[in-house]
Amino acid sequence: RHYHPSLQAGLIERHELNEHLDNAVAVADSAFALHYQPIVDLSNGELVAFEALVRWPQDQRAMMMPDEFIPVAEESGQIVRLGAWVLQRAVADGEGWQRLRGPSAGRGVPPLRLNVNVSARQFREADFVDVVRDIVRGSALERGSLVLELTESVLMNRDERVHADMRELCDLGIGIAIDDFGTGYSSLSYLREFPISILKIDKSFIDGLAHSAQQYALVEGIARIAEKLGVEVIAEGIENTAQRDLLAEMGCPLGQGYLFSHPLSLEEADALVRLHGRL
Ligand code: C2E
Ligand code: CA
Ligand code: CA
Ligand code: CA
Repeated sequence: RHYHPSLQAGLIERHELNEHLDNAVAVADSAFALHYQPIVDLSNGELVAFEALVRWPQDQRAMMMPDEFIPVAEESGQIVRLGAWVLQRAVADGEGWQRLRGPSAGRGVPPLRLNVNVSARQFREADFVDVVRDIVRGSALERGSLVLELTESVLMNRDERVHADMRELCDLGIGIAIDDFGTGYSSLSYLREFPISILKIDKSFIDGLAHSAQQYALVEGIARIAEKLGVEVIAEGIENTAQRDLLAEMGCPLGQGYLFSHPLSLEEADALVRLHGRL
């Protein structure tokens, strides 16, 4: 048999990465780190949420990024344990910010929200909702603070269990966001079929905003429909002020991107919360 040498090298590399990942997941707390990217109110730059993004530090200098290892973890199933760790770690960090800010209840201040990514593979596990419920019930996180970001691949599967699980998450006060909206098999009918609270418009739409009337019309249309349906919108990947201004002009309420902040280490995120920082 003739293997293409580079393909074979790729397979060996993947096998090694898999083993390496197994060891890391077993000691997740010391192997992985979460970084937090601010999500802001586009009208005033105020911090409204953090999105948890996992990192895998290798040695003093190298940091492995999720695009390199999340797909491997999804294929092997390791994402189930890794994802549970991410959720637990993020909720603990969210409790910390809550303490720093003081309780929002009674002050008319909405709680600082925490967005956590969930893979389709993880969501499909029979005990997914049980795992989430245990973590949330065992925490002091204010109701309404936690948002799970799901991709459209979860919603494509229109079976009754997906509906039941989503209803149960809603009953727990957990928000559901559709991530990367506009890529994949987007359908606005998801908004009426599922209890979606947030729609995240993919960066690829935001990129062309200032140069393409078509792109502008699309984003504006999505933002309008979402607003009418009572669904919040977050524009992803905002990198310049022109994009921010156009989004604010069309009434898109929330945004996220390097213009405001890169993902922050926990220490940096804590500092921002302490300062009640605007971005
Ligand atoms: P995502 O959920 O769409 O996250 C947004 C990604 O875009 C992040 O990359 C973020 O750092 C990056 N980003 C944010 N603003 C900008 C911008 O203005 N310009 C550009 N060019 N990029 C921006 P990151 O952290 O490398 O994560 C990549 C993907 O890995 C995520 O995409 C998500 O799909 C996945 N991921 C990350 N953490 C987790 C996790 O804990 N669980 C799961 N299941 N997936 C995760
Ligand atoms: Ca996301
Ligand atoms: Ca996204
Ligand atoms: Ca993405």
